[in-house]
Amino acid sequence: MKINNVVVIGSGTMGSGIAAHLCNADISVTLLDLKTEISRSARDRILKSKPPLLFDKSKVNNIKIGNINDDFDVVKKADWVVEAVVEKINIKHEIYEKIFKNRKEDSIVSSNTSTIPLKALSEKLSSKDKKDFCITHFFNPVRYMGLLEIVRNESNDNKKINFLKRFCESSLGKGVIICGDTPGFLGNRIGVYAMQVAMTEAIKMRLSVEEADSIFGRPMGIPKTGVFALYDLIGIDLMADVLKSFIKELPKNDEFHNVVKDIEIVSKLIKSGYTGRKGKGGFYRMKKTEKGKTLEVLNLESGEYSPVKKIDLKVDKVDLKKLINREDKYGKFAWSVLSKIIKYSSSLIPEITKEFNDIDEALRLGFNWSKGPFEMLQEIGPQDFFKKIDDFQDNEFLKNLHDSKEEHFYDRRQKYTDIETLGKIKSNAIKIDKNKSAEIFRFQDFNIVEFTTKANALDYNSMDALKKATDKPLIIINESMQFSAGVNLNYVMDFVKKKDFKSVEKFIKYFQETCKHLKYCDNPVISAPSGLALGGGEEVLLQSNFVVSHTNIVMGLVETIVGLVPAGGGCKEMLWRWSQTSEGKKDPDYAPLKVFDIIGYAKTASSPQEAIPLMFLRNEDKQIMNRNNLLTEAKILIKENKKFTPPQECKFKLSGEQARRKMYKILDKLYQEKKILEHGLEVGKELAYVLSGGKTDLNKELSENDLYNLELESFMKLAANSKTQERILHTLTTGKPLVN
Ligand code: NAD
Repeated sequence: MKINNVVVIGSGTMGSGIAAHLCNADISVTLLDLKTEISRSARDRILKSKPPLLFDKSKVNNIKIGNINDDFDVVKKADWVVEAVVEKINIKHEIYEKIFKNRKEDSIVSSNTSTIPLKALSEKLSSKDKKDFCITHFFNPVRYMGLLEIVRNESNDNKKINFLKRFCESSLGKGVIICGDTPGFLGNRIGVYAMQVAMTEAIKMRLSVEEADSIFGRPMGIPKTGVFALYDLIGIDLMADVLKSFIKELPKNDEFHNVVKDIEIVSKLIKSGYTGRKGKGGFYRMKKTEKGKTLEVLNLESGEYSPVKKIDLKVDKVDLKKLINREDKYGKFAWSVLSKIIKYSSSLIPEITKEFNDIDEALRLGFNWSKGPFEMLQEIGPQDFFKKIDDFQDNEFLKNLHDSKEEHFYDRRQKYTDIETLGKIKSNAIKIDKNKSAEIFRFQDFNIVEFTTKANALDYNSMDALKKATDKPLIIINESMQFSAGVNLNYVMDFVKKKDFKSVEKFIKYFQETCKHLKYCDNPVISAPSGLALGGGEEVLLQSNFVVSHTNIVMGLVETIVGLVPAGGGCKEMLWRWSQTSEGKKDPDYAPLKVFDIIGYAKTASSPQEAIPLMFLRNEDKQIMNRNNLLTEAKILIKENKKFTPPQECKFKLSGEQARRKMYKILDKLYQEKKILEHGLEVGKELAYVLSGGKTDLNKELSENDLYNLELESFMKLAANSKTQERILHTLTTGKPLVN
């Protein structure tokens, strides 16, 4: 069996996302819709998608397009046909009739349905065709959501299903969970229930939209879209359709029915065209005024909009025990929602899956929760949970857990895959050290550092952990979403506010010292990023000996956005990389000007393919489609580098004034054209100072330490600049950079 050629039928949100991702995997794909114009506009949408669905835009032409009348013959050659047309069973049945008349013998056919049971979809198929037909339920956006549920039933050829699973794991990088044919499968059954509970409880407890989203969000390890903003994102009308199908499919006594009763405000929103972000707005809306845009929020009782209020719950880390035991309304809401989700999920074992662990994984991969309901129960602790909860006697799972008096019922993560992942091996590792920002694990012949702060922002402790862990080969990897969003600016600003610039300097020096140590210590250092690797996070990568990168990354040195320059070796390392190109060897100003352009504009790459031309990654760095494989690949590098010799220290010849003048010219033009203002000019000049080598000329040789010093000098000057401070504070309070 092999899959080299795929046809996707239906080129809407999901069909186009699936086609784009197949194209990322270099699989030949044809996208068919009712009319070729529809698939063509889908292909255009793929190109414009944000965040991008493609690793590399140039690949878009690999997606062939057509229509189901003139071009259906492509199905004859397809190894896999994916149906992703509208959620209407009669339309799907018509398509299957056509597919099975034309398909290649033994090919796989699947539907992307969210809500129609496999049994109903396949009811008109012959028993031979049923063997090859299953549901492949991808999540939106396909490139970024880790979950793929493959739904099969007793009619299926298991060998084929397992083959498809392996293919989707290795070639498409998905976390594939095999599910039975039950409504909403695993992810949506619990995920949608959770959203409905959060919404109905918020309304019952008279919480505002912002209040509900700020609790049912980060403090629970759930994305910050919470419930109402997530509703807006998915589409309030689409959610209503999903709910209708749950109502139709689920038995009358299912607890789900209690949370899907008509909610007046939701029907009102849909009727008036407020269907979420794609419509006029929803629970939130952006109001344009002469002064600019204001984010407004709906009052659930009056139906009026007013500007969003920031809710500060004073929670900086997920601590479920603390959260559910809070005496205020937020604690009550958290407990009410969490306990209901745990109760509902556990009541469905073993009906929807024998492996409760798979429910957690589905929530983590499909909804980006950091823990699923069973892990949450483990975190709260069964004893404490049972002390708080009243009736659970009709829930077999909870009753057994209660009677067993087992406090540690949770065993391993990620049972759905055979791959050896960080989540799986951590429980067997020795935790040799832990501080507020990172943990060090020891395995037989290597160490792992996992950052543990919010978005893995880096501070003195993060650096300390890295430095301490280099007594063995080191892998820097983590389970959370981001590798690192950069230096912890809150940490820096706390010193700045106290005018304690000495401490800022001490931290930056330690950052530099650690990064230099990573590069030159006797043991290989491997970074294995996924998600954001920005600013300081990117500097750690740049100075690691090897990088094993997930294909979903966002990399860049973005310090200039807040009015700073990279000072952990980012300028230095980029200069070095660009100076090693053939152009860089010929022209001493080539590398400084290239890096000036990249860092000055805070350019970012959203895939390894985009990162290599910018030299954030090197050709030899590995690109990994399945995030679960990062650890295995990093371990292979350790094995291959048993006799590791650190690189030679770099030396630089920079032209100083000469290169600086060229950069000033660029800055002047931008200033004249009002593309940058006074402060931008100041930042640009500091960057120019560093990248040109400061007070040097081509006869002098600069060491890495010289460049670190230049970075530090400019960074300190800018950190003391009130405009820079204003920019940093604005970014910290709003989560968005200040424009101009
Ligand atoms: P969509 O409305 O965006 O796109 C459906 C496409 O199907 C349209 O381009 C339409 O022109 C085309 N189409 C309709 N009839 C057709 C026919 N007879 N032949 C060929 N094309 C036809 O829908 P979507 O959101 O992409 O959903 C597609 C499927 O994926 C549905 O089964 C849905 O339940 C499921 N799904 C959706 C999501 C989501 O978030 N949108 C997530 C998971 C699964």
